[in-house]
Amino acid sequence: MITSKQIIEDVAQAVVTASSHWREDQVACWRAAAERETQPSAKWAMENFLRNAEAADEHHSALCDDTGTPHPFLEIGDEAVVPAGFLQAMEEGIRVGMNRVPTRPMGVKGDDLQRIDQCLGMYDEPGMLRPAPTQIRRISGSQIRFTILMLGGGPEIRSKTQPIFHMHSVDHVVDEMIKWAIPQVAALGCQPCTLSFGLGRTACEASSLSLEAMKDGRYDVQNEMERKITDAVNAAGIGPIGLGGKTSVLATFIKIGNMRASGFRVVSMRPNCCMEIRRGTCQWDAAQE
Ligand code: SF4
Repeated sequence: MITSKQIIEDVAQAVVTASSHWREDQVACWRAAAERETQPSAKWAMENFLRNAEAADEHHSALCDDTGTPHPFLEIGDEAVVPAGFLQAMEEGIRVGMNRVPTRPMGVKGDDLQRIDQCLGMYDEPGMLRPAPTQIRRISGSQIRFTILMLGGGPEIRSKTQPIFHMHSVDHVVDEMIKWAIPQVAALGCQPCTLSFGLGRTACEASSLSLEAMKDGRYDVQNEMERKITDAVNAAGIGPIGLGGKTSVLATFIKIGNMRASGFRVVSMRPNCCMEIRRGTCQWDAAQE
């Protein structure tokens, strides 16, 4: 039986991991890109980002001053029994983890309207930046898997969710995705990016799928469509922090959902910044006892 105490501690540790560590496949992709780079200022920038990541890894400290908004993702096995109070313990674990890093205090005080204009200011406690609504997916088995994604503010300004008329052509849709990505990656400032895309039937579904792509995406596993988009945006020569060079995008993560009979596909794109994907996971066996 998983206890609330265990859930809180495991989730808190996943938040620390997401905020301060890049994964192995991510570091390997960065190193390969830095080695490939021939433009001196772009190479210098990438080597410094790698040094920054090593320091954060060593000290379990934040990768960036904008520590991001927590987005929780749960995968629940068909045979798992979710304990009473699970979501409450999960949210508490997120709060504890953010205080432990510590992340930047960004939680806005007040009621609905007061939070919009920030008239009451912010909480001092980092963990008062409450998580986004939890995404849930079904998996086989008896595991409950938790993933946290820490999403920075810059990419939100450059994100886009809109329909694309498919014209019965995957190539046309991909070309449109590339056309979307190039100006947004160029405008972001914190390149190189990891592009995430969700393709679905509604704006809500496509955004959720884009988040799922971030959860599952691996830098060392790229399909043809993902590689095509990465290569096309890199050909624009934007480069790390806009300095020019070979790498504006490290990888592309795409999740394609169910489709309906219609002339359009809703596409949600997020140009995740150079500090992202910030992702941490943990899991529990929740078989019936
Ligand atoms: S966009 Fe990313 S790298 Fe830039 S400040 Fe925000 S979190 Fe940090």
